[in-house]
Amino acid sequence: MQLTAIPSLNDNYIWLMADDHGQAVVVDPGEAEPVEQYLEAHGLALSTILLTHHHHDHIGGAATLQLNHRATVYAPQDSRIDLIANRVGDGDLIGLEQPALDLAVIGVPGHTLSHIAYYGDGKLFCGDTLFSLGCGRLFEGQPEQMLASLDRFAALPGSTLVCAAHEYTAANGRFALTVEPDNTDLQERVVEVRDARAADRPSLPSSMACELRTNPFLRIDEPAVAAWCRHHGADESRVSRFATLRRAKDQFAA
Ligand code: ZN
Ligand code: FE
Repeated sequence: MQLTAIPSLNDNYIWLMADDHGQAVVVDPGEAEPVEQYLEAHGLALSTILLTHHHHDHIGGAATLQLNHRATVYAPQDSRIDLIANRVGDGDLIGLEQPALDLAVIGVPGHTLSHIAYYGDGKLFCGDTLFSLGCGRLFEGQPEQMLASLDRFAALPGSTLVCAAHEYTAANGRFALTVEPDNTDLQERVVEVRDARAADRPSLPSSMACELRTNPFLRIDEPAVAAWCRHHGADESRVSRFATLRRAKDQFAA
């Protein structure tokens, strides 16, 4: 199974997976055009569209692609996604035939309340919940919801490829370094990301193991991160540390 990040809009990625028979799946097509171009250039047929949440930069191209390719759409239960779709939620299993791919749906409220992620073939399509070196903003959910969502991701195998929906890694890295300036894994990742971006390559996918070593939002139990959170007003609870970190990131001028 081939995996590609198709750049879209300002800083979105539309993830595409394709098998050897040219059958493709896309995740969160915020616009149709770059997907159409990629399918055309590589002789692929689009069978399936996976949507993680209702924001326009993730679904804007879905209706056009669905129409043009008679693709099957999977989406969370949310009336703000006004498409004919198979509605899926936490615990559901999706068995695709073309390409042959089994996906588990994980309910991950936080960025939005109906946000879901898709996990299968060693890949995690996490939308705007987890980014490399960061996590999504809390537009609708509470810190405890987002923390529980990130905890579920953290329990996946370290080899899991983290296919996030935005190229935010460099900016996230600037904030992460203020939290853990002495984390050498983080320092190395920031250099790697700088080189990738300078060469116009995506910083993604990342791996869960890499995120566990470098992403402050997955490291609130690490002594250095916990101390930073306490210094910035958190109490002894995990939720308080997470909320403090998220608030600080919201206010951080990258
Ligand atoms: Zn979003
Ligand atoms: Fe987004």
